[in-house]
Amino acid sequence: DQTVCTPLPVLGRDVLVPLVTGGEVAYAALDYAASAPALQRVWDDVAAYAPYYGSVHRGAGYLSQLSTDLFENSRATVAEFLGCRDDDQVVFTRSTTDSLNLLAAALPADCQVFVFETEHHASLLPWRDARVNFLNAPRTPAQAVETLERALAARDPYGPALVCVTGASNVTGELWPVRELAAAAHAHGARIVLDAAQLAPHHPLDIAELDVDWVAFSGHKLYAPFGSGVLAGRADWLRSAEPYLAGGGASRKVSRRGDGGVDVEWHTTAARHEAGSPNVIGVYAIASACKALTEAGFDSLVEREQRLVAKVREGLAEVDAVRVLSLFGDDAPRVGVISFVVDGWNSSHFAAALSAEYGIGVRDGLFCAHPLVRTLLASDPQDPGECGAPEAEPGERSLNAIRVSFGAGTPDEHVERFVGAVK
Ligand code: PMP
Repeated sequence: DQTVCTPLPVLGRDVLVPLVTGGEVAYAALDYAASAPALQRVWDDVAAYAPYYGSVHRGAGYLSQLSTDLFENSRATVAEFLGCRDDDQVVFTRSTTDSLNLLAAALPADCQVFVFETEHHASLLPWRDARVNFLNAPRTPAQAVETLERALAARDPYGPALVCVTGASNVTGELWPVRELAAAAHAHGARIVLDAAQLAPHHPLDIAELDVDWVAFSGHKLYAPFGSGVLAGRADWLRSAEPYLAGGGASRKVSRRGDGGVDVEWHTTAARHEAGSPNVIGVYAIASACKALTEAGFDSLVEREQRLVAKVREGLAEVDAVRVLSLFGDDAPRVGVISFVVDGWNSSHFAAALSAEYGIGVRDGLFCAHPLVRTLLASDPQDPGECGAPEAEPGERSLNAIRVSFGAGTPDEHVERFVGAVK
């Protein structure tokens, strides 16, 4: 656990920051839900690969062959990590946002999409060209399933349909009833895609066992660096869709037609949606993170994280002015992502004070989930908040929130310092 999960040392050491109270401490980056620090093991694997750097799928040269093997073996590692079925495809993308936009571009004609208003914008917005049904925020997991059941029962039963749902909320950390939602979707002839951006780093994920059709996640939240993501799942819609990007690598055969035009035969494998030279390092880093997490074992990661979740929640509960945001209530299972507001404080000022005075980095804002945060703050839905820092005078109701998030490698001291600072 220790060797696999140490946070990224910057220039060989943690970033030290002076405290206003005197002395220096290692900066406590408690913003894993935005981007988690890449594991040392991932950087080591990437550095070990550097001498073999070559283009993939492009040449007979030794380095090119090695790179191609690393790239394709990484695909197999990710498929194994996700528990993919034999006929699933693993497509490498730039991020969760990119993966969901790819799927949105691959929807069959007349596809209806069902999505809760509580989703992150990455899973809320890509479907705008489809026939989208936005579902109201449920207040219990059972209500989420009922709401979906009702909406699907009322749909045109003959056309294709897709449900998009987040596995763990990037705002409340709460787990959504994915298995039950998948069963409801399938019972009504719909498909389901799981936004696993916040679930994958905190929980073992098994696409076949959850019975979801696709899973999307980002490397930079799964302890790998920025720039790579995954869309994995059913091959059929992906195979028959127009390539996400047109270009080399996606095309199997290109020829001039007699009339002067160009004919293209596209690949039917994942390569169809991976045109251009791929992010081999990013892909290799994701596979390395998948292996590290599997070897470390999710049981011990989850147990440790849940201990930290309890510590933060208990600490915050002792402060009268703090209100923790929750959709499903106190007993809902959750990952290490907790958002709250503090009476009498503008959340942005509060987060700035945590950073400047205590060396603690948290996020403030609406977390790219505006409708959800507005519901949780019970603020006016017409209120034009922004992702950054909507203005609220000290003492006024907060228009945004503060989010603390953590995971593998978070020392107890960081969490204890956070609780002490809030108090
Ligand atoms: N979905 C959820 C639940 C997220 O938390 C995020 C990132 N905050 C995304 C999607 C988008 O991920 P990315 O920015 O890596 O595309």
